[in-house]
Amino acid sequence: FFMIPSILPTYNRAPLSFVSGTGSWLTTDDGRRFLDFGAGIAVNSLGHAHPALVEALTVQAGQLWHTSNLYHIPAQQKLADQLVDLTFADTVFFTNSGTEACELAIKMARKYFYDKGHPEQVEIITFDGAFHGRSSAGIAAAGSEKMTEGFGPVLPGFVQVPFGQHDPLHAAVNDKTAAVLIEPIQGEGGIRRVPDHCLKGLRDFCDSHGILLIFDEVQCGVGRSGKLFAYEWSGIEPDIMMVAKGIGGGFPIGAVLATEGAANGMTAGTHGSTYGGNPLGCAVGSTVLNHVSDPEFLSDVNRKSGLLHQGLGGLIAEFPNIFDGIVGSGLMVGLRCKVNNMDVVNAGYDAEILTVPAAENVVRLLPALNIADGDIKVAVDRLRQAATSLQSGV
Ligand code: PLP
Repeated sequence: FFMIPSILPTYNRAPLSFVSGTGSWLTTDDGRRFLDFGAGIAVNSLGHAHPALVEALTVQAGQLWHTSNLYHIPAQQKLADQLVDLTFADTVFFTNSGTEACELAIKMARKYFYDKGHPEQVEIITFDGAFHGRSSAGIAAAGSEKMTEGFGPVLPGFVQVPFGQHDPLHAAVNDKTAAVLIEPIQGEGGIRRVPDHCLKGLRDFCDSHGILLIFDEVQCGVGRSGKLFAYEWSGIEPDIMMVAKGIGGGFPIGAVLATEGAANGMTAGTHGSTYGGNPLGCAVGSTVLNHVSDPEFLSDVNRKSGLLHQGLGGLIAEFPNIFDGIVGSGLMVGLRCKVNNMDVVNAGYDAEILTVPAAENVVRLLPALNIADGDIKVAVDRLRQAATSLQSGV
C-alpha cells in the first residue's frame, strides 16, 4: 500500500473543496458559500465565471486551442500590442506562470551585459522577504533558506540585501552586478510596499551604475494596487517587468515586458516556450486587460479600497488585541495581526471567508477587483465574526 497521498503533499491544505464560483463567491462540495478574499492568491482579478472571460475562452476554444510559437498567433499579437500600448514596454514574451517570467527576466538581464561585452556582469540584487517563484533561479533569487534548503547547490549570481535599507544596497553593487530585482509591493513578504521615493531612488541608483531595474509585478500588477501596474504610482519605469497571476484571471499565463534596449539580446533561438502565448490564454488575457485597464475600472478599485479600509479601520478599533494595522495599496491589503495570522485565516474559514496568510504575521485580503460594494461589507462582517471567535481565546 502507498503511504504518500496521490497528490504530492507539498501543501498544507485547508479542509475545503470548492466546486463552483460566481463573482466573489465560491461554493463547496457540501453546499457552503464562501466569500473569496483570496482570489486564488491575486489571480481571479474579475472574480469567478465572469461572463466576458467565459465567452473569450469558449469562443477561442471553439476556433483553435494551440498551434506553436513556430507560427504567428493572432491572439498573442493582440495581447502583446495591448501591453506595449499600456506600459513602458516595447516588447513582450509570454509564459505560463510568474516563475517562468522570472527565469526570462534574469536571462534577459544577463544577456544584455553579455552582448555589451561584459559577460562577468551576471549578479542580480534582490531583497529579504522577496518571492519570485519556486524554480532553481526563483528560490536563489529569494534566497531564503526555507526555500533553498535541501535542494542542492543554490544557483549562483544572486545577492540578497535587507528590505528598505540604503547602505547594504549600495555596498552590494560591484562590477559584476547586472540588475536589481524587486517587487514594488511584496506579496508573500507581507504586503510590504516600497515607498515611491525609494522606487525613484532605485531607478537613479540603477542608472548611475549602468545596471538594469527589474520589477516583479506578478502579484501587485494588473490593477491590484489601484493602478494598472504598481510602478505607475512612483512615476518611474523599470527596464524589465514580470507579470502573471491577475492577467489571466484564472487562466495560467504570464509575461515578461521589456524596453527595446533591455531586450535587444533576445534574438531568435535564445528563448522559447511550447505553451507561452497560447491562443486560449491570450484570448482571456486580452479580455482581462480590456476591463482592468479602463480608467473608470481602476478608479473604482481605489474607491472600493477606500470602503474596505474604512471597514477594516473600524475592526481594528474594535479588536485592538487581534489586529495591529492595515498595509497595502488598492485591493492588495494586509491586515497586520497581534495573534497568529494563521489563527485569523482559520477563524475566517469558520466564518466562511477566504483570506491568505503572508510573512510579517499578515493576513492578505485580495478580493476580485470588481467586488461588489455590498460584498465588502459582508467581508468586514465575517472578519468581525472571526475576530469575535478569537477574542474569547485571547
Ligand atoms: N513573483 C511573485 C511576486 C509572486 O507572488 C509569485 C507567486 O506567488 C511568483 C513570482 C511566482 O509565480 P507563479 O506561482 O505563477 O509561478
